[in-house]
Amino acid sequence: MGARRTADNAELKALPAVHELAGRLDGPHALRVKAARRTIDERREAVRAGADPTLDLVSRAREVLDGLRSTSLQRVVNATGVIIHTNLGRAPLPAGAQAAVVDIADGYSNLELDLASGRRGTRQAHIEELLRDLTGAEAAIAVNNGAAAVLLAAAALAGPGRAILVSRGQLVEIGGGFRIPEVVSASGSSLLEVGTTNRTRVSDYERGLKTAETPVGAILRVHQSNFRAVGFVEEVPIEGLRDLGVPVIDDVGSGVLADPAAALAVVAGGGCTGDPGPGLALADEPELKRSVAAGAALVCCSGDKLLGGPQAGIMVGRREALEAARAHPLARAVRIDKLALAALEATLLLYRDPERAWREVPVLAMLSVDESTLQARAQRLGAGIGSAANVVRSSATVGGGALPLLELEGPAVALEGEDPVALARALRGGDPPVVARIHDGRVMLDPRTLREAEVVQVIAAVRRALER
Ligand SMILES: *Cc1c(COP(=O)(O)O)cnc(C)c1O
Repeated sequence: MGARRTADNAELKALPAVHELAGRLDGPHALRVKAARRTIDERREAVRAGADPTLDLVSRAREVLDGLRSTSLQRVVNATGVIIHTNLGRAPLPAGAQAAVVDIADGYSNLELDLASGRRGTRQAHIEELLRDLTGAEAAIAVNNGAAAVLLAAAALAGPGRAILVSRGQLVEIGGGFRIPEVVSASGSSLLEVGTTNRTRVSDYERGLKTAETPVGAILRVHQSNFRAVGFVEEVPIEGLRDLGVPVIDDVGSGVLADPAAALAVVAGGGCTGDPGPGLALADEPELKRSVAAGAALVCCSGDKLLGGPQAGIMVGRREALEAARAHPLARAVRIDKLALAALEATLLLYRDPERAWREVPVLAMLSVDESTLQARAQRLGAGIGSAANVVRSSATVGGGALPLLELEGPAVALEGEDPVALARALRGGDPPVVARIHDGRVMLDPRTLREAEVVQVIAAVRRALER
């Protein structure tokens, strides 16, 4: 112990001064100093922890400097099988949406210019007609994200001096700090709870409205996105709330625009007689069309969950309600930016042809991919990795707080005989980083969320990680 400490002290004393190490690097002065300081601090920690550094100090400092010059946000390979993975950026964009983003980012656009009249226009014009046609709504806008849509809806229809009525079974937390009571409160509205955690009937809403001490601005209905209550439960369907004389906000969360029947056509058209279950399973998530037809004043959903587009919040519904939302000061604070708008318009365009949407929106394609494609991809992956790989049956979830009970069963590649946590870490540390899931003490690679071109990358990444 004493000898060890002496050796450590000697090593610490031998570390160069920051300016000395910085002098051996190339680049702007401030960056060299930052890299040198970070490297020396890191080495000091390593010596104290008794770790053996693998690189000499100058090489490591060059690596740190390179890191400071490259983007932190980078592409990763999603081998988890979770299609809408919030930590991995949710929905990958359809090719058409990617092209639209690049085109609009590269130059100027008619974002808020009416080209016919030469007068000022609105950015909402680019998506409003599409959303109206796809949902049957009178009016529509897009905002920054789903949370912003709900906040704006609550503020526009209620706000200070007015209450929002919510079933106790829907006072939920969606994740990442989005809790319905807090959102209502942030809108300036007071919260009026009705019913119980497991059962709420129309009569509960009626009694709440009758006995309310503050005028009620809206009834808020919230979809239980990431969980399901089972057993002795009762909820009022959206149709049951239309005749209560108060505007209804329906937060459907993920929301479904896709037509499940079109998934069947695509799967059948591919010559596959497999089970089109995932397409049909969308039936478990609320369709925007249904809430609109049921007379909801405002229906809110996310752009990057099952819809498969960019981060965005979509609000469709009655003309007066959307006018109130547009006119509210919060609308400017949560407005959608032009790149997301470009991607959203291009994604919505695909839905004009329902079968095309199932083929070209990656989230829908991954949800409905047939078993034989997955099997072939898993085999290729396993064969490329070699003896450490086994093709097994496994199941993943959809993610993104959608379809929480749906298990996407299929083949996966299990990696045997390694410390799974260490192996998963090595894969994340690669270039490109590969994110896998650990199940039953093994690292699993799921072909469902892998592109064909990524299979080769994963094979190389696993071989490198196993060689260590
Ligand atoms: C996901 C979700 C939100 C939040 O949407 P974001 O796009 O993540 O901001 C709000 N409400 C429900 C019911 C959701 O599922």
